[in-house]
Amino acid sequence: TNFRDMKVPQCVIDYLATKNIVKPSPIQMQGLPTAFAGRDMIGIAFTGSGKTLAFSLPIIMFAVEEERKLPFTRGEGPVGMIVCPSRELARQTFESIKAIAESLVQGGFPQIGVLLCIGGISMAEQQHTMSKGFHIVVATPGRLQDMLEKKKFTLECCRYLCLDEADRMIDMGFEDDVRNIMNFFKQQRQTLLFSATMPKKIQDFAEQSLIRPVVINV
Ligand code: AMP
Repeated sequence: TNFRDMKVPQCVIDYLATKNIVKPSPIQMQGLPTAFAGRDMIGIAFTGSGKTLAFSLPIIMFAVEEERKLPFTRGEGPVGMIVCPSRELARQTFESIKAIAESLVQGGFPQIGVLLCIGGISMAEQQHTMSKGFHIVVATPGRLQDMLEKKKFTLECCRYLCLDEADRMIDMGFEDDVRNIMNFFKQQRQTLLFSATMPKKIQDFAEQSLIRPVVINV
């Protein structure tokens, strides 16, 4: 299987090739079709497995579909969200999503706005990005919760959630924050959970938060 067989647009394939990403890694081979099919998923995968692309591509293509259905001029909030344990990880994920979004614009797809929602960024800067309209939020739990509680945006349109490095997130004491964030969702959502390890705590968490997930262990 290659990226073309998995509904990845040619402009993205061309962009990935410039990054020497030509052949899908195992987590991408199994994870992309699962995520594109709308299933919940648990990915047991470590950094370096290519997990970022496995959840980023589906969220971007989902945002493109939503944008085509109803152009995003309203600013209620995102259609998809990625939550990471650290600012650095959130920033890296944000950068890779933006690069893919730009490659899509080159290929004639609609522009997808991405908001980085982490501590250490001024609210004014975030407000500026929000005013331009955004489809995807990449966040750390603390700042995200703060912004949701202050009603900076809502999750009323949000139907895709990815929890990256869930084991680290729970180890760092973010479990209650993440649960609280999930309570802001108003619609049925697709949930992807990535974790390097699967201790009982994460298994229990996943059981409560995901619906009949496909488990992929690479
Ligand atoms: P990640 O596991 O998502 O943190 O990705 C680790 C690194 O692998 C990143 O620098 C990616 O650009 C790269 N990468 C992701 N997917 C592939 C692939 N299919 N082939 C080669 N490199 C990849």
